[in-house]
Amino acid sequence: MKTEKVAIITGSGRGIGAATAKLFAENAYAVCINYKSNAEAANEIATSITNQGGRCISVQADVSLEKDVINLFQLVDSEFGHLSTLVNNAGILKEQSRLDEMSADRINSVLINNVTSYFLCSREAVKRMSSNYGRAGGTIVNVSSGASRRGSPNEYIDYASSKGAIDTLTTGLSLEVADEGIRVNCVRPGLIHTGIHVDGGEPNRIDRLKSKIPMQRGGQPEEVAEAILWLASDKSSYVTGSFIDLSGGL
Ligand code: NAP
Repeated sequence: MKTEKVAIITGSGRGIGAATAKLFAENAYAVCINYKSNAEAANEIATSITNQGGRCISVQADVSLEKDVINLFQLVDSEFGHLSTLVNNAGILKEQSRLDEMSADRINSVLINNVTSYFLCSREAVKRMSSNYGRAGGTIVNVSSGASRRGSPNEYIDYASSKGAIDTLTTGLSLEVADEGIRVNCVRPGLIHTGIHVDGGEPNRIDRLKSKIPMQRGGQPEEVAEAILWLASDKSSYVTGSFIDLSGGL
């Protein structure tokens, strides 16, 4: 009998994570939707998945906090029994600012939300996937950003640097667990139409910048989700430590 695939997608109440949760459910994955504070958005996605016959749970957890991460993974253990895929997606950015105006609190908040969270979730996933732990293997897909290559000057170097750390995490962890049945890969979206730009203080940021994108448009969350699904699935079975840039040529 074919075992059901199970995926945890962090930060999947909205944006890229929500599109990914829907696509995974359409492709027969049981899905754990995770959110930090917007329960309404997460429950809406969960309801639409269950209404279409999918299996899913919605779990509140701040993935920058170790105790919340442990609880999130234990809930998935008890609900689904195993884990096939972790999508590290939850992320934040702060109001646009030059580095000479950034407080230590701000920098630490960006790093803990965007980097510590990926490390903690990856640790819990490895324990549930690695042959070293007698497990059947699995896949981890990290959502980084094109910002890791460009650095986001005058906007958010802290955010761009946090994504640079995710690129390095992808390389290092992929090598660490390559012979334990776990593949670790990364997507680097460019300018994608989600609510995250509101948090940066410029909801119409993509309109300002789209003439600089070779394809002359921003991307949709669903276009990123397709790459995440492929990297998570057996169709990419010989791919690890790799990066897919989804940025319209930027
Ligand atoms: P979004 O629309 O703002 O959604 C972010 C999601 O992450 C929300 O569901 C939020 O939960 C959740 N979240 C944030 N911090 C969390 C935490 N500590 N614990 C649990 N959940 C948390 O953002 P998005 O644009 O879809 O971004 C998703 C990922 O793509 C991020 O890693 C981002 O850096 C990356 N990315 C985005 C773009 C872009 O242009 N949009 C480009 C490159 C990379 P609540 O709903 O509860 O607040």
